[in-house]
Amino acid sequence: MNNRQLFQQYVAQTSPAPVGIEIISASGNYLYDVNGKKYLDLIGGISVCNIGHGNPEVKDAIKKQVDDYLHIMVYGELVQSPQVKYAELLAKHLPGNLSCTYFTNSGAEATEGALKLARRATGRTDIISCNKSYHGNTLGALSVMGDEYWRNAFRPLMPGVWHYDYNSNALLNAVNEQTACVIIETIQGEAGVVEPHDSWLQQLRKKCTDTGTLLVFDEIQSGFGRTGKLWGFEHYGIIPDIVLLGKALGGGMPMGAFVASYDLMQLFTHSPVLGHITTFGGHPVCCAAGMAALNVLLDNKLINDVAEKEKQFLTLLKHPAIKAVRSKGLLIAIELDSPAQVSITLQRCLDKGLFSDWFLFAPNCIRFAPSLTISPKEIKTACDILLSCL
Ligand code: PLP
Repeated sequence: MNNRQLFQQYVAQTSPAPVGIEIISASGNYLYDVNGKKYLDLIGGISVCNIGHGNPEVKDAIKKQVDDYLHIMVYGELVQSPQVKYAELLAKHLPGNLSCTYFTNSGAEATEGALKLARRATGRTDIISCNKSYHGNTLGALSVMGDEYWRNAFRPLMPGVWHYDYNSNALLNAVNEQTACVIIETIQGEAGVVEPHDSWLQQLRKKCTDTGTLLVFDEIQSGFGRTGKLWGFEHYGIIPDIVLLGKALGGGMPMGAFVASYDLMQLFTHSPVLGHITTFGGHPVCCAAGMAALNVLLDNKLINDVAEKEKQFLTLLKHPAIKAVRSKGLLIAIELDSPAQVSITLQRCLDKGLFSDWFLFAPNCIRFAPSLTISPKEIKTACDILLSCL
């Protein structure tokens, strides 16, 4: 059997039609397959590789930490300097009292931790989330996910979860003194890039404050410069009580986090003690890699060019087959007629050396979410290939 056959036989599959090309190296904005073919990467590991592939500073940080130590003890017992330094750096770049970081292994686990913290802090059980929202795939995160097709097969899910449309008055009206938290993507990603209308997020912030409800922003996809600011919520002038981080947080290593105030986070230390625990959360190699990646992002001011690059995409993405383009920074949804057209176009793009993807709840849209290091020339190449495939 060749490697592709072994992959399909021995590695658990998630769909009947995986992309299935075998990558042997990745560098900058390119992936290279086993046959020597080069692909311009327009999704960056789904918003993970915000500084491109194979950054030397990230690789050096990983190598140094591998030499120092790997796993030494479960999370929260020993002082591990990669964790301490990264948590301090995050606190420096997060506003308000978002200063205390709980490191997890994935975005879904960050969601789980935040939901537990909200229940523990408020003593309430109800949770409000949005239709077409995505917060991860573990049972708790699945319960707040906003799509019945993906939820239904796994029922019964967590009780006390109520879904409303993003941007709706119904959601604002539903928040009350029984609500532990509202969990929401600052900009909806898997819905096909949907932004909050006018003052909707501000109204939500006020409603949460008035009712003692915690506001949880999922910045797992919109964080780390993706939307043109370090955090998506900076566009709207409000601060959540808990923020979820993931994807680019680990600089290519697996990692998530939820960040809240020191006082809120202290609740996990008593009643019960060890209120949230993990063996591998905050793994030192992941922290070292993530911190190096964030420093690369900041030191090279990569976020400064995001708006200009977004504008270039929007100028070039014009074609009779494109029904609409929705974007926030370098999170771009290109709407076509149908999911079938998306899947044919993605395959044609792949054949021509352009790697891209679709959205879970907007299957009629092509996803462009390249590394923030993509050059104007690469943007032009990507758009030329896409248009030639439509
Ligand atoms: N939240 C958002 C907005 C996401 O996009 C994702 C992953 O795509 C998650 C949560 C879950 O993260 P993970 O896949 O690391 O569990």
